Amino acid sequence: MIKSQTVLGQMIARMADEDDYRRWTAQVERAGHCVRPVRLVGSAMTVNAATGEIEATYASEQEPGGALLVACKDRRESVCPPCAARYRADAWHVFAGGVTPDDGGDQVGHPMVLATFTAPSFGRVHAARDGGVCRAARGGRRGKRTCEHGRPLWCHARHEAADGMVGAPLCEDCADLAGLVLWNASVGELWRRTVIYVYRALAALAPALDGRAVTVRRVREVLRISYAKVAEFQKRGVVHLHVLARLDGVNPDDPEQTIAPPAWADVNLLTAALAHAAARVSVPLPVVDGRAAAVARWGAQLDVRPVQPREVDRARVAGYLAKYATKTVGDSVSGLPSSRPRADELDVDGGGRIPAHVAALTATVRRLARLGACRALRLARHVHTLGFRGHVTSKSRRYSTTFAALREARRAWRRSQRARERDPWAGGDTGLPDDDRAGTVLVGDWRVAGIGYRTLGDRVLAEVLGREHRQAREVLRLGLAE
Ligand SMILES: [Zn+2]
Ligand SMILES: [Zn+2]
Ligand SMILES: [Zn+2]
Repeated sequence: MIKSQTVLGQMIARMADEDDYRRWTAQVERAGHCVRPVRLVGSAMTVNAATGEIEATYASEQEPGGALLVACKDRRESVCPPCAARYRADAWHVFAGGVTPDDGGDQVGHPMVLATFTAPSFGRVHAARDGGVCRAARGGRRGKRTCEHGRPLWCHARHEAADGMVGAPLCEDCADLAGLVLWNASVGELWRRTVIYVYRALAALAPALDGRAVTVRRVREVLRISYAKVAEFQKRGVVHLHVLARLDGVNPDDPEQTIAPPAWADVNLLTAALAHAAARVSVPLPVVDGRAAAVARWGAQLDVRPVQPREVDRARVAGYLAKYATKTVGDSVSGLPSSRPRADELDVDGGGRIPAHVAALTATVRRLARLGACRALRLARHVHTLGFRGHVTSKSRRYSTTFAALREARRAWRRSQRARERDPWAGGDTGLPDDDRAGTVLVGDWRVAGIGYRTLGDRVLAEVLGREHRQAREVLRLGLAE
């Protein structure tokens, strides 16, 4: 990068050569207008597997700047909005796909619910209440108005949602930060056990079959619970799980198939089984700070709503979950970085930018990480997620199509477009020939030259191109809707 050049100068230099600029914009387009693409340097060729003949060659040298731009594919809105938008669209299809599973597109007879599993309380926190006061003083004159540390149990401020105070404990000493972090670290295991408990609950709640009580083994022979879930960080730093859960039947002759469950397995049974399981399941926590042995449980609040196999419900719940799929803990808990920070970044950045309660939480994760009792939780690697160790978005295998299947569908579509254009290089994720075209082998030699655009001018131009692209699509969409 030439430092003395202004951003405008860099943009003008980029556009100076018409051919060069056209090639560069084609690359930016292929990278989906990613704001921090990976720059690859190298070459590749497709070889006919049968004859050994080289069918096509490609070298990044022919690109402007000698590098190939590839989308970063980050799911996080705060890192790369265009790549996050694509991820969100894919997530939408994954979630929506499960509302109409693959048994002839007829979802009638598959009971389905959207359930939100919450965390318990780890101490009272400041809250934003739509212009209302944070926490009214309770109990009047006779009631307890301060905690054992002499701090008020009320707060008459009216907080904005963006207020750094929201989610902070009313009393730092009352707040159970270690409990909160250990809960986050255990929520993945808590969910895994919850699924097992749901099968038990189904057995306990199912009507007798053939006049005999239903066992868990019998339930697993005839019913399957499929789900997709998203973790959402609350302002106070704990995770909630939003789960789309569906009851399927099992075809004994073809277990891979998704069929409707027997009629007695209805939405009421599913709802009751989830509540039954949520109330009973627990995970033992490591014993720390000389505390009594404790377990992680779900909070008392469990929200379960039926989802109908209607297009409007499908779009609504898929959109609702997809929105969370691109969020990070940093989007909810102000002051946290959006990705794994360098070893000491949080401390260095500390100078007042991180709210005190967030700093206290990250310090707690670090402290627990050093304790032998917590070794299995590998907390040192999860400071930036306040102990949470799982994937933000995940699903059971048979819930619906996968992200990989969507990517393959997109590639196939591009292949067909390219075939039509008779230009092997015009499109694709990278502009490279496909490594999976029948009968050919892709041979390549690549290295990463860097992350992000080489100049700020390039980045600004890419953003402008992205905006124009989205506007053009919007115009097209509105035109089609009319
Ligand atoms: Zn990107
Ligand atoms: Zn308050
Ligand atoms: Zn207190």
